[in-house]
Order: sequence, then structure tokens, then C-alpha cells
Amino acid sequence: MPEQTKRKLRLDKDGMPYAVCPKCNKQIYNLELVEETYITYEVSPDTHGDLNFEETDRNTAWDWDYNYTCPECNEVIATSEEEAEALFEGPSQEQEAAQEQGVSPAHNNEARA
Ligand SMILES: [Zn+2]
Repeated sequence: MPEQTKRKLRLDKDGMPYAVCPKCNKQIYNLELVEETYITYEVSPDTHGDLNFEETDRNTAWDWDYNYTCPECNEVIATSEEEAEALFEGPSQEQEAAQEQGVSPAHNNEARA
């Protein structure tokens, strides 16, 4: 496994990680994920001849694409874990505010002639 890089989360003023939906531009704190699952039942008649369904197995369809949707607009905005994680990455509100003020002391190097 490669070394895990620390992700830079986009944080609101309360320090909660959030994403901005690329479809509806709303601030969201979670995605929704529907997981496809196969359920196997053992089906047999009871003493009245009515069928009984007993669950015997449950399998997740791992090879199916995951569709992460926005809880606000229900649009699919990520189809993998990496894409979903990337939605929450970005500068915090404080960092964005600092950028808007245009203060960047790091860019003060003048080329010497
Ligand atoms: Zn949305």
C-alpha cells in the first residue's frame, strides 16, 4: 500500500467538512449511496400450502458501479470512493477568505539581475 496522503478537507466555520455539489451548488455534508444487494431465500410451503420465505444469504454486488448522489438534488456526483472523497477536499472558508484579501507574502521574491 502506498503511503496515505493526508487529505485537505474543505471545512465550514464550525470545522465540519463539507462539499459543494457540482450540479446544484448547494453546501452538503454527506452523500447518499445506494448499494445493490442480492438476497437469497429458501422458499418452501407451510402446513397450509402457503409459501414461506426464509432469507439464507445476502450478497453485495461489489462489481457494480456505485452511484453517490447529492442529498439535495439527487444527481449522481461521484461514481467511486476516490471521487466521493475528492468532493470534500479543498480550502477551508478561512483560507478562501484569506485568499480573497490578496495577502500572499510568499510571492515577494524579486528576480535578481
Ligand atoms: Zn446537488
